[in-house]
Amino acid sequence: MSLKLCSVSVDVDGIDHYHAIHGLSAPDVGAAGLAHGLAIERLIAWAREIQIPLTWFVIGRDVSDLNFVRSLNAAIEEGHEIGNHSLDHRYDLTRLSEPEQTNQVAGAQERLEQAFGVRPLGFRAPGYTVTDTLLDIVEQAGFAYDSSVFPCPAYYAAKALVLLGQRVVGRRSLSILDSPSVLSAPLTPYRRGRPYTRKGGGLIEVPVQVTPWARLPFIGTSLTSMGPAGARVLARSLVGARLVNLELHAIDFLAADDGLQILARHQPDLRLPLPRKTGALSAAIDVLRKADYTFVTMAEAVRRIGI
Ligand SMILES: [Zn+2]
Repeated sequence: MSLKLCSVSVDVDGIDHYHAIHGLSAPDVGAAGLAHGLAIERLIAWAREIQIPLTWFVIGRDVSDLNFVRSLNAAIEEGHEIGNHSLDHRYDLTRLSEPEQTNQVAGAQERLEQAFGVRPLGFRAPGYTVTDTLLDIVEQAGFAYDSSVFPCPAYYAAKALVLLGQRVVGRRSLSILDSPSVLSAPLTPYRRGRPYTRKGGGLIEVPVQVTPWARLPFIGTSLTSMGPAGARVLARSLVGARLVNLELHAIDFLAADDGLQILARHQPDLRLPLPRKTGALSAAIDVLRKADYTFVTMAEAVRRIGI
């Protein structure tokens, strides 16, 4: 049995959340539904073509979209997994009161179980921001793993700069910055201690993937921005890792000409042609497959690595 595993997950963040990050007014009706419609169709077709199961981190309130639920239920039949991405995707989740945080985790769990007939085993916080309090709630709710910690200096610096820039021009983003201590967290799966950035005996944390040494982000946005050749280089630097945890967003499968011209002014990756973006993701998968990686859902990966 192969010990080298790769899990590909998709955060299904609606277009409205990107508008909020950039301090824009709400998207029009046509654009608003793209992440739960067109992007999902494309992602499922892509996963089928390259024969990998996906782990979908779904926002609880989004199960009111019945077509979206139908598409994902069909994906579950093909071996995909559903994870919990909180009830409302509040970027300030960790700043809410404890009962409100509990409601964001448990409320999503209830809705997702009702919609998909399975109880999610994994949690991913909005905006990669967690605290010991939030992870205590997740752990007590009986999850098998969390996958929110992103120990990536480049991402952290970029986010800090964007938030600072928005403050300078008087635009208010709903995004918040994590404590810099997240950068000291382990880069590979671990059981959390206290603080959660240290190893201990608690809930399994599967950090969002960064490359060794340079700790470049190995996520959809960086791969699609680099294109196929760059994506291959980044993927090669990870060969040897026991688990590669590749996180995508539904928006990685959309482009400006799908009807996202307004958002594309603020989000450079939307200005890239779609075939180049999906080509980059397929190239990264191809490198790992040729290096004997087995593609499994995150829950399956967590079971198999046995930490
Ligand atoms: Zn998200």
